[in-house]
Amino acid sequence: MIPQGRPARKRLLLLGAGHAHLEVLRRFSMNPPERTELVLVSPASETLYPGMLPGFVARQYSWEEVVLDAAAAAQRAGAVFVRDEGLRVSLPDRQLKLRDRPPLSFDLISLNIGSGTSLPPLGEGVREAPGFLATRPFLAFERRLPLWDSLPGELLVLGAGHAGFELACAFRARYPRREVTLLNGAEPLASPVTAALKQRNIRLLNPGKVLRIDRAGEGFLLRCEREEVRCTLLVAATGAAPSPLVRDSRLPENNGFLQVQSSLQALGEIPLFGAGDCIELADHPWVPKSGVYAVREAPVLAHNLRAFLAGRALRRYRPQRLSLRLLNLGDGSAIASRGSLLAQGGWAWRWKNHIDRKFMERHRPEASPMTEPACGGCGSKVSATTLKRMLGQQQRGRFQWGIPEQEDVALWKGSGRPLALTVDQFRNFGADPWLFGRIAAASAASDLHAKGVAPAGALMQLTVPRMAPALAEDWMEQLFSSVNAFLAEEGAELGGGQTNEGEEWNLGFTFWGETDNPWPKRGGRPGDFLVLTKPLGTGILLAASMAGAPVGRHLDHCLEWMARSNRAAARILQQSPPAACTDITGFSLLGHLSEMLSGLDAELELESIPLLPGSRHWFEKGFSSRMHGLNETSFPLRIPERARILYDPQTSGGLLFALDSGAARKAVASLRSAGEGAWIIGRLQSPTGSAEQVRIV
Ligand SMILES: Cc1cc2nc3c(=O)[nH]c(=O)nc-3n(C[C@H](O)[C@H](O)[C@H](O)COP(=O)(O)OP(=O)(O)OC[C@H]3O[C@@H](n4cnc5c(N)ncnc54)[C@H](O)[C@@H]3O)c2cc1C
Repeated sequence: MIPQGRPARKRLLLLGAGHAHLEVLRRFSMNPPERTELVLVSPASETLYPGMLPGFVARQYSWEEVVLDAAAAAQRAGAVFVRDEGLRVSLPDRQLKLRDRPPLSFDLISLNIGSGTSLPPLGEGVREAPGFLATRPFLAFERRLPLWDSLPGELLVLGAGHAGFELACAFRARYPRREVTLLNGAEPLASPVTAALKQRNIRLLNPGKVLRIDRAGEGFLLRCEREEVRCTLLVAATGAAPSPLVRDSRLPENNGFLQVQSSLQALGEIPLFGAGDCIELADHPWVPKSGVYAVREAPVLAHNLRAFLAGRALRRYRPQRLSLRLLNLGDGSAIASRGSLLAQGGWAWRWKNHIDRKFMERHRPEASPMTEPACGGCGSKVSATTLKRMLGQQQRGRFQWGIPEQEDVALWKGSGRPLALTVDQFRNFGADPWLFGRIAAASAASDLHAKGVAPAGALMQLTVPRMAPALAEDWMEQLFSSVNAFLAEEGAELGGGQTNEGEEWNLGFTFWGETDNPWPKRGGRPGDFLVLTKPLGTGILLAASMAGAPVGRHLDHCLEWMARSNRAAARILQQSPPAACTDITGFSLLGHLSEMLSGLDAELELESIPLLPGSRHWFEKGFSSRMHGLNETSFPLRIPERARILYDPQTSGGLLFALDSGAARKAVASLRSAGEGAWIIGRLQSPTGSAEQVRIV
């Protein structure tokens, strides 16, 4: 995040990427609140639009069509996106406790964290069983459904509310030959609804309230008031349960739902607002847990958050008594319901599809590649050609390895053991400071790991963007906590550093460690296999995300790889040290490989080179970092068009090493069994004298 205009004085923390907060962010992206830092906290980039979930189950929509990208919404609004789960809100000290990182302070907080599924008592192993699905958390659907396609047996949907009814129809459409049952433990259903079930051969049962669910063989046994029911696959669509966060935080609540006034501010005049399923309106407790209401609350929430920050009067939210409900029947038709009015037909489905798609489009504006991408991470570095020109005149001095060797580290021989030293620094690429700290440290330490050297000490340089001192301190606490944790894992000590204020986050480290036998960058022999330990594509995915493209889970996955240290891989390689090793960073796989060759040729198997999911898709849409083009110029190679992706600069990329074939295969097996990445991507070859030093096959 690059702060614009005057520095922020206050922090508005949006907890949960529900419908209302996505709309608040959309509005704030056009008109941000004055001098306020926005922070969105959500465990993942993707957030589901549940109105389209039955359509996904019925195979009417792909997963990509039914999810929105909260990280991209935050990026467009200039908000910091914190990938974490909020555990507790402490109002006295205005802090949000997070699962993975230190607490975040706030001046104002808003909750839009949805709800859980209210379940009857469950026996041991029910929740974990592959045949069990609760409507929430939503993201589990996508993971479990492919498995269900191959699990035979009858399916039961528990709960005959709107969601349960739609899901029963959706599963009928998905599994035309299976037995599908809808279990209604409550009031009788309207006759058009029962008729629709009958037409679709969906059995309707009413055995009374479900008292308990246990595992029974491969399936489940439901003990109900009047009888017992068995099934193999079970979907619980049993209504909304409150998030434990509200009660754990001792917030004003009723049955676990945050009690708010008509202004959506919590009871008690505290700096806390809420919207969606997690709230109960004190004046209108009848408002159902429904996305329609969450969406309608959003404009009032956006207005009131802004007004509260500015000390202005708040507006009232007036919920409508009746709302239109369009129930997807999974086969191209739908039931339209409003109060007691019900009508059915293809027109109702087309209407629903139109409304849902319009909603998605509003929150998914087209992102286009930037002509001058403002890159962060290693994509923001200077080209290899420029660097060589600047450093070319340096003579050998007292360093054993230095600039003339173009090595990844400098090797200093003092009076003791030789010391390997490296320095690395870059601007932030849109991560929150906690994650940025970890990735910048992992990237800097990686140069030592590529030489088989364990980092012993570090110095750090940090630029903090201009903001109120309390906010800056809070972020620095986050950043230092992840850096300190990283250094402890590495067994390295922080010796000192320097901080200053500037336009944006920028973090660098000098790392050092003792070594008698560092692995060289060059030294491979013809026939050696080339092995890579992390997939490529970070430059593309970061460029797309910085342009506001909905990179979604692919960005989360990419950041997980970037946050990984190369330490474990380097330790495993100590058993059979590589003949040559480097790490892949800004100069890309092709650039770093070119530097490794030293007169040899190399052959790369394009299909064996691992790419991060989504990276080819976004590359083909035109997203790449500024450094990509510079790499193509600095390391000109005649390669097929499809291989151009290999010029992508990596931030905190993997190791690339050369080993004879037998040792390489063993190393790959050891790395994989330790949970590390390892792919044989090609081999070194004797020089052919042709211009094509790197051949892609
Ligand atoms: C199958 C099904 C179909 C439905 N169809 C419709 C429909 O057609 N129309 C309709 O109006 N309603 C529908 N609903 C109801 C609708 O899903 C909910 O009412 C709606 O999603 C509530 O929106 P929300 O904004 O409160 O939160 P949600 O959309 O549930 O979003 C909550 C967000 O908060 C995040 N979160 C949760 N806990 C935390 C935490 N501790 N820290 C950080 N983040 C957190 C979650 O990951 C999620 O991203 C349907 C429900 C189901 C189950």
